[in-house]
Amino acid sequence: MRKATVAIVGRPNVGKSTIFNRLVGERISIVEDIPGVTRDRIYAEAEWLTTRFNLIDTGGIEVGDEPLLVKMRQQAEVAIDEADVIIFLVNGREGITAADEEVAKLLYKSNKPVVLGVNKVDNPEMRETIYEYYALGFGEPFPISGSHGLGLGDLLDEVVSHFPELDMSEKDEDTIYFSVIGRPNVGKSSLVNALLNEERVIVSDIEGTTRDAVDTKLHRDNQDYVIIDTAGMRKRGKVYETTEKYSVLRALKAIDRSDVVLVLIDAETGIREQDKRIAGYAHEAGRAVVIVVNKWDTITSNEKAMKEFEEQVRAHFQYLDYAPIVFLSAKTKKRLHTLLPAIQLASENHTKRVPTNVLNDVVMDALAMNPTPTVKGKRLKVLYATQVNVKPPRFVIFVNEPELVHFSFARFVENRIREAFGFVGTPIKIIARKRQ
Ligand code: GDP
Ligand code: GDP
Repeated sequence: MRKATVAIVGRPNVGKSTIFNRLVGERISIVEDIPGVTRDRIYAEAEWLTTRFNLIDTGGIEVGDEPLLVKMRQQAEVAIDEADVIIFLVNGREGITAADEEVAKLLYKSNKPVVLGVNKVDNPEMRETIYEYYALGFGEPFPISGSHGLGLGDLLDEVVSHFPELDMSEKDEDTIYFSVIGRPNVGKSSLVNALLNEERVIVSDIEGTTRDAVDTKLHRDNQDYVIIDTAGMRKRGKVYETTEKYSVLRALKAIDRSDVVLVLIDAETGIREQDKRIAGYAHEAGRAVVIVVNKWDTITSNEKAMKEFEEQVRAHFQYLDYAPIVFLSAKTKKRLHTLLPAIQLASENHTKRVPTNVLNDVVMDALAMNPTPTVKGKRLKVLYATQVNVKPPRFVIFVNEPELVHFSFARFVENRIREAFGFVGTPIKIIARKRQ
């Protein structure tokens, strides 16, 4: 099911990023484990009670050194374009400023639900002063304190109450949803167009899956696919749409809705730092990944060239060692026919379940050959393993002491599972639990 998106808007220094970080909590830091991946602090998943949603800090989206008013307008536009509900943040210690009124004007025109947060209300006495903010015209102002974590529950109750009914967009389980990501000019639109024009593919449009994204349905060899629209595939022309932060944001939103993510690389220009960033997010989000080396027509293609390029890809994307690599040309359509089968395989593995008895045979055999680690004289004992989930596959190993399970041991178990069951194209997760 599609998650709702919430954007935080407001002039500088009202506390947008403080609130963002508090709502997102520790979830954001997990990406740091991957070398070469810079954290992106403008978009992350948050949760309130049982509802998950995506949160955008529009303060992170800036277009060069534009004047303040232009920046604020662009940030408000991003919020209006991307969000289901907007949190309009003001500073409870400064009253309503001219800049707040400018932001308010843009939000009036938007038809999006707006919830007004009055930040920096750090103590109860200050709550008396928030009534003046009714004048902004967004109804009840919610007093909050980002730095003390106060009042956020009431604010979020209000935000969640405005979430649209999303059940309509419930995913069809038999359909493979995929997106194409990559930096500008790697050939994303060319690849999508090449797929759509392929003879054996039947294409139909899906009416507005989200507001302004156009998803496309494909059918080939008894399999339905949906291509999720991504930044860079549609050239629209608002100023902020050319900024990197914004295209990253659009890509992250597309990844969230995907089963399989195609990480597109340009064979002609080679691998760049920027290629790794979004790929890291696809991995962290637990999506299946296929690495696609496009523009293969520009390389004198032979076995050796392919091997060499593959080695480069493996060296740069070490955490994606499970991802198959497809070499093709969107322009000449050479080897294009290898793409959908690779997507299909990755998707199959993403949803694959391994029977518990077979899994335990594999894990226990591996442990019989390799002694478990000891820490401070205490030896790790593995009692039992079971697969608890798919998309991506998650395995729980029940052990005597979860603290004895270090990264290298989890990796060892993962590798044995991969050797036995494949899982090409999908990340898998190993979780250690204490056996009660
Ligand atoms: P942004 O520019 O809107 O993203 O604002 P920041 O989150 O960077 O916050 C601007 C300043 O306000 C920082 O110095 C924060 O520590 C401070 N701040 C944020 N929230 C609160 C709050 O609830 N109370 C107080 N007293 N200060 C806050
Ligand atoms: P996007 O920004 O990622 O959507 O990239 P485009 O699809 O707009 O392609 C950028 C440029 O690369 C265009 O000039 C394309 O014609 C060119 N291009 C795309 N795919 C290929 C390919 O397979 N081979 C070659 N030689 N050029 C390509």
